[in-house]
Order: sequence, then C-alpha cells, then structure tokens
Amino acid sequence: MKGLVIAIDGPSGAGKSTIAKLLSRRLGYTYIDTGALYRAIGWKARQEGVDPTDEHVLAALCSRVDVRLRYENGSQRVSVDGADVTDAIRTPEMGMIASTVSKSPAVRARLLIIQRSLGEQGSVVMDGRDIGTVVFPDADVKFFLDASAAERGRRRWRELKDKGMDVDVNVITAEITARDLQDSGRDIAPLKQASDAAYVDSSTMTIEQVVDRLMSEIERRSL
Ligand code: C5P
Repeated sequence: MKGLVIAIDGPSGAGKSTIAKLLSRRLGYTYIDTGALYRAIGWKARQEGVDPTDEHVLAALCSRVDVRLRYENGSQRVSVDGADVTDAIRTPEMGMIASTVSKSPAVRARLLIIQRSLGEQGSVVMDGRDIGTVVFPDADVKFFLDASAAERGRRRWRELKDKGMDVDVNVITAEITARDLQDSGRDIAPLKQASDAAYVDSSTMTIEQVVDRLMSEIERRSL
C-alpha cells in the first residue's frame, strides 16, 4: 500500500521541523523540509551577489542551478551545484533572503517540480508554507501548526543560541514576524491554512503532546 502524504504548514518557529522529524520517525516515513530548498536558492543568489527581488535574474539562476536533497543517516542534506550548504543556510539572514526569493514565480515553479517529485511516492511528512494548499492539495492528512509570536520567537532564539549564535530574543522575534508577514502577504502560494487542515496551536503544548495530537489525527483520518 502506498504510504501517506502528510502536509504540515505554518509560520516560522511554530515547531514544524521538530514535530515533522519525530512524526516521520514514528511512522517510518521520510521527512522533507521544503524551506531548505528556498534557503538554498537564497544562498545561491547571495553567493552570486544578485538582487533577490529581480525576477529576470532569479529566473535565469533557476534555469541553471542544481539544488538537491539527499538523506544521510536519516538526516536531510541540501546541496547547491555540488556544494553542501546544509549548515550555511540555517541563519536568520538566510531565512529572510529565502522569504524574499520565495515571492518569485520562477523560483516557486522550479521548486514545485522538485517537491512534487520528492513526495509522489508517498510515505512522506513534508513541512513548509504551501504544502497543503499548492504542492499537495490532495495530501492525505494536513496540519496547520501555529504558536503565539512571542513563543515562536523564544523557540527560534533558543535553537540559534544552542548552535552557539549570539542573538537577541527581541531581534529574532521581530525578524520572524516580518518574515511571516511577507510570507502570508505574497501573491503566489501565500502562507495560509488549507480549508481541510487540522489547526494545532502548540503555544502551551509540549513536543510530546503535539506529536501525540498529530498521530491521533493521522490515525483518525486514514482509517
Ligand atoms: O521553513 P523555513 O523557515 O526554512 O523557510 C524559509 C522560507 O522559505 C520561508 O520564510 C518561506 O518564505 C519560504 N518557504 C515557502 N514555501 C515553503 C517553504 C518555505 O515559501 N513550502
């Protein structure tokens, strides 16, 4: 039997990647972090010193860039034209540039093809902003994972601090709030809840509670 496609969308810092990783482990599925693809294009634009708002430049870049996801011991690695950028793309600056390039029709069209081919066999938990609305509108189970802006800011700040980055919680909260505004306000595939997605506010829930909540929804919907 073909495994399920599980879509998890939501704003930055809502816990999507943490939850999606644990969920995929429980189900024996592959976790696909689609934000890494947008970050990879942002990284390339930055490396080439091009304007990340210039549609013509981005379209040309997309027609030649080779972005790949691969899995090593169950962890996703991202490469751009053969260079492993998995760690380099995980900075607040790369998050913001990813959000800027993600407004481009050419970037979205190119990454849509990659995302669909990664998920078409099923048995995937895919997280992003438009998985349940655009990438897999027929996904078997959809979630919209949310949390208050203050809590999301704190989580992202802790994550960066744990990686040894010297960051201010207020700056991080402002940065993700600005990014969410840009992501939900764009013309193509804006961040929004799919009408058939289950809404989960994780602000006051533990990681374990969120995973259990999603698991029970998956069991209920896939019966
Ligand atoms: O999830 P992450 O924070 O890594 O995503 C970086 C940016 O990529 C987001 O702020 C958003 O602009 C973009 N993105 C998107 N669609 C997705 C995943 C990410 O537009 N499916």
